Amino acid sequence: MQIARRLRGFTQSDIRRMTRECERVSGINLGQGICDLPTPSLVRDGAIAAIRENRSTYSFAEGAIELRQAIARKLARDNGLTADPLTEICVTVGASGAFACAINALLDPGDGILLFEPYYGYHLNAALVAGLTPEFLALEPPDFALREEDLEKAITPRTRAIVVCTPSNPSGKMYTRAELEALARVAKKRDLLVITDEIYEYIRYDGREHISPALFARDRTITIMGLSKTFSITGWRLGYAAAPEEMIHAITLVNDLYYVCAPTPLQLGAAAGFSAPRRYFDELQSAYQRKRDLICSALGAAHLEPIVPEGAYYVLADCASLGKATSREAAMLLLEKTRVASIPGSAFYRGKTGERLLRFCFAKDDDVLEEACRRLRAL
Ligand code: GLN
Repeated sequence: MQIARRLRGFTQSDIRRMTRECERVSGINLGQGICDLPTPSLVRDGAIAAIRENRSTYSFAEGAIELRQAIARKLARDNGLTADPLTEICVTVGASGAFACAINALLDPGDGILLFEPYYGYHLNAALVAGLTPEFLALEPPDFALREEDLEKAITPRTRAIVVCTPSNPSGKMYTRAELEALARVAKKRDLLVITDEIYEYIRYDGREHISPALFARDRTITIMGLSKTFSITGWRLGYAAAPEEMIHAITLVNDLYYVCAPTPLQLGAAAGFSAPRRYFDELQSAYQRKRDLICSALGAAHLEPIVPEGAYYVLADCASLGKATSREAAMLLLEKTRVASIPGSAFYRGKTGERLLRFCFAKDDDVLEEACRRLRAL
């Protein structure tokens, strides 16, 4: 059997693998960021109504106009960004779909794409499948600060784009205004694209503001956001990209070729969701803050020292106390002992640093999370 050269050496992601391992022992899955909270009725009923009304055919490749208009209003209201719903937004199959379309539409094989480490493994692997050359800048815990001089040094003659995931999966870091201003300066000076992943924008702690990188370099930024986490619809696979017209035009061409369009009735359900009252988005924050505090204290008690996240719903924790040489072994040991699944830190790092970390997802119903915390505390 012939497998493409660029796929050789690829295996199933640890994120997916740990879900299977967890099911094998009927464990609690704090591995894959599944998010099993209830979908708001506005969104659910909107999709059901669209199906009942037989709105079941393809939407435009760039998405249903109702959803693009809702997204444009939301970008203005919550992100301070203006985007023309007719030309500057493309609805995609998840934020991952937006990322895949963006890199294939805007970059050529061999182009360098800079990732901040720890990175989301799907960004790295999607870049490899697109034939790009990944480049890395390691950010150090606990604050994962981005320094302008380090960024300058990390740029090579090959670099064409920088990926910024804020709030970050897996670290929970939220890039500050000063960091994003510096990033925009470097991007302008070196003529680079900025590709964001802001899917966790509404999940943040201690009153922090989400700052969109496009605010500082609008003409060269592809803003990628998603609906999975905001409406707890990870399985609906809905995301979008906002960028200047020429780039959205190219992204839409690829979106059409790969996917034709995102599922129409689900787009219409999500469009209804954006008219949820302000309170809905605020409550997301307070609900997750409680969950974050709960798991961080349980991890501390289990001698798995957490790096407390600023946003997103993951926490990295030090697994050195489990006494294993690799984080994969540590994750398996923890699963056997507690039947709580996590993700080995090596999924987010090239080198050694990841071997002493595990990532836990706390997007769980309170009862499930509390039981997982009890098991961790008993370790
Ligand atoms: N983004 C989620 C995670 O990091 C899930 C992605 C996936 O299932 N591959 O766990």
